[in-house]
Amino acid sequence: MLDRLKAYRAKRDFTRTAEPAGKRQKSRRKLSYLIQKHAARRLHYDFRLEWNGALMSWAVPKGPSENLGDKRLAVHVEDHPLEYGSFEGTIPQGEYGGGTVLLWDRGSWEPHGDVDEGMAKGKLSFTLHGERLKGDWALVRMRGGGNKGNGRDNWLLIKERDAEAKPGGTPVVERETSSVKSGREMEEIAAAKKVWHSDRDNRSQEATARPKAQKKRPLQRSRPSSRRSLRRSSMRRRRAKAGSTR
Ligand code: MN
Repeated sequence: MLDRLKAYRAKRDFTRTAEPAGKRQKSRRKLSYLIQKHAARRLHYDFRLEWNGALMSWAVPKGPSENLGDKRLAVHVEDHPLEYGSFEGTIPQGEYGGGTVLLWDRGSWEPHGDVDEGMAKGKLSFTLHGERLKGDWALVRMRGGGNKGNGRDNWLLIKERDAEAKPGGTPVVERETSSVKSGREMEEIAAAKKVWHSDRDNRSQEATARPKAQKKRPLQRSRPSSRRSLRRSSMRRRRAKAGSTR
């Protein structure tokens, strides 16, 4: 952002002119950053960065790691609305993304360099100012999409070297399991009655609704375990194939 004003500023001596030098970045509204832990068909962490009025989003199956050596698969998915960033609750089974959502981290992010260029080139470097994640990180698009021909836009989420890197100890996703918004654990959110339909108005839904299906089929128990374990083992196979990436 500052760079956009560089040419403007270079032409002026602000000790002599009353023209504005332009607001510095820190007084701009900050770009929001957040992670939602999402127990859908399989658990993943939705990593979201505000850009151009929406949230650029990546689904990170294993979640972030503060360990420099770890490269976490991050599947680039569609942009989400900014308001989605504060959502926590339960999306009913059978709806898109059905499952429990916990707000795992939130704060702001600072891109290093031009974001649109970085997205086009497949390398985004940035600083996170989250409640949990801090310091420098990178998202790097895998060449050839990583997993051959499955049509996914695969990136890697990587911690960059700085004082915030943590080379050992308990991984942050195990150290921190509660919501930064409500302090609740996944199970407590799942047990709460509020549900959220992506295709209806969120406010009225939260205020009034309690779909019948939700009462009878508590979250996480609604799928036959055999199907769940089948899915898990197929995920493991896929992961094993993609082994070099993680
Ligand atoms: Mn998700």
